[in-house]
This record gives sequence, C-alpha cells and structure tokens, in this order.
Amino acid sequence: MKALIYAGPKQAIVKEVPDPTPKEGAVKIDVKYCGICGSDIGIYLGTHPRAKAPLVFGHEFIGTVATDGKKFKKGDRVAAFPLLSCGKCLACRTGNSHVCNTLGLIGIDVDGGICESIYVDEDVLFKLPEDVSDRAAVTVEPLAVIIRAVHQIKFQALESAVIIGAGPIGILTGIVLKNIGASKIFISDINEKRLELAKELGLNTVNSSKENLKDIVKAATDGEGCDVLFECSGSEAAAMDMTEITRVQGRICMVSVHKQPHKVDLRQLNFKEQLIIGTRVYTKEEFRQAVDYCKVLEKDLEKIVTHIVPLRESDKAFDLIADMNAGAVKVVVDCTQK
Ligand SMILES: [Zn+2]
Ligand SMILES: [Zn+2]
Repeated sequence: MKALIYAGPKQAIVKEVPDPTPKEGAVKIDVKYCGICGSDIGIYLGTHPRAKAPLVFGHEFIGTVATDGKKFKKGDRVAAFPLLSCGKCLACRTGNSHVCNTLGLIGIDVDGGICESIYVDEDVLFKLPEDVSDRAAVTVEPLAVIIRAVHQIKFQALESAVIIGAGPIGILTGIVLKNIGASKIFISDINEKRLELAKELGLNTVNSSKENLKDIVKAATDGEGCDVLFECSGSEAAAMDMTEITRVQGRICMVSVHKQPHKVDLRQLNFKEQLIIGTRVYTKEEFRQAVDYCKVLEKDLEKIVTHIVPLRESDKAFDLIADMNAGAVKVVVDCTQK
C-alpha cells in the first residue's frame, strides 16, 4: 500500500510499504481522511522530541472498518483515539492516562494513519454519527483538544474570550466558544488569510502586525481586559502579553505548546489574582464527546478544512502549510486518492 513517510528532517515521501499486519483485538480500517497537525510539522522539520524515521505520519484519521471485529462491523465509519499510555505511572494508575509520563501517539511513536489502511484496537475506536460529513468528522481529534481546554479552564457561557493565534486550534477554539455562548470572542494573528476565515466564522479579528490587541480588548471590556484568554500561538509575545490582556481574577489557558521557555509577566498574575492552567490532549471521554459534537458544529468544521490533498501528493502538504499566501488552515489528506 501507499503511505506518507517521515524519512528524516525535511524529508516527507509517499512510497509503497508492506500492507499492515493483522493483530489480536484490532480491526483493519480503510483510511478515508487524515488531518495534518502542528505536531506533524515538528516531525517533518526534525524537531519533534520523540518521532524517529522511518515513520508513517498521521494521528488524526477517520475511516471505514474493513472486516468484522467483535464490536465493530464492516462498513462502520470510525475515528481512532490515538493516545498510547504506559498503564503504570501515577497518572495512568489514577485515571489520568492522557497525561501519562511517557505518553505516546499513533502517528508519532508508532506508524500512523496517512496510508491506505491500518489495524487499530477496537477499544479505541468510536463510531462517527451517521449523517456527519467526512470533511467535518476529520477534525474530531483537534476538536477533542479544545473540549479538554474548555474543561480545564471551566469556560462559562457569557464570558468574554481572547484567542491568540488563528491556526487550526485557535479557530477551532473560536468555533467552540461561539457555540458555548461566549459574550465576545477576539482572535489575533498576523496571517490575514486565516483571519479572513475567522471573521467569516463570526469572530472579531485582530491583525497584531497592524493593530494593538491589548488596546482593542481593553476598549471592548470597559478597560478591564477579557475574562478568559486562550494562548494558541506558542509565541514569545503572547506569553508576555497574556496577563496584561486578561482582567483581574481572569483565567488563562495554555493550549499551544511553547517549545522554549518564554517570559511571563508574573507580577500581573499576583496583583490581578489570575489563574493560568495547562492543557494537553484529551481524555477518552472528551474524545467521545468530540465525536458527537462534530455533528453539532458540522458546517463550521467543514470550513476550517481549507485543503484536501490526495495521498499520492501528500508529500507537498508541508509546503502548502508553510505558504502564508495559500491560506491553509486545516490540511487533510484523502487516503483513498492513491
Ligand atoms: Zn492533532
Ligand atoms: Zn503512564
């Protein structure tokens, strides 16, 4: 079969690999779509701390069950919960295996889903709602990330929010907050194309290369700052500004991974009694919630999938994402187009 392989730093190649081998408790999935994630870009660039070449990319895959299993039947459309945990560390033993000390993912630590087919354990598969489009359903994994973030920060209806970063995760956060009933949602980025999409989805956009996010948020909140800030950019400037933009007793959720230590204005954190909380992936329950939720958000989710590339040309997906003018938000590989 064909697969998209990480062959070394800046080397992504589509090539013929052996068909996957059956394993006990697993069913074969014929992959339909697989999304490309920020972590896949890290793998491609050779900066991911764990991924080792050769590796089949892809942890955001959906597809169709190819052979009857114990629970799933041939033809079922499914998404796979991709987390791999040790079962032995404190987090795992206390029901928090999503923050396992040695957490791994299908597509990062073992071969992933940007290929024609893959065997996946039945106990990590979730059946997709029957009438949801593949285009919306392929966003279920990043959607689960946002559900986790919203749970961690205990976001409430009628709160105001600022999202820094309008990549797929930032825009998805905006879609979810809008659905929950945020009073105001501001989203900032320097990529005009991404902001255009955010605006189309009903978010207030700020181009931080031309406008001052702090001033705009203060003006819109009686000079106080936002209730909740979602940091989705990973940038140095965002880390420095977030406590300033957020109000007294406001909350800050660190969704993006900051790849190096950044300065934070901690005095504001003290004086304003703010809360900063981290968030990482999702629990299995939150993944299940995302599976149902993707039907509710279907029309908006379809819009963030800006590009679908055939498997045979998926080696070019990384250039597409890097091209600011292409306006790529979520790039998805169609694994049936070999
Ligand atoms: Zn992902
Ligand atoms: Zn563990």
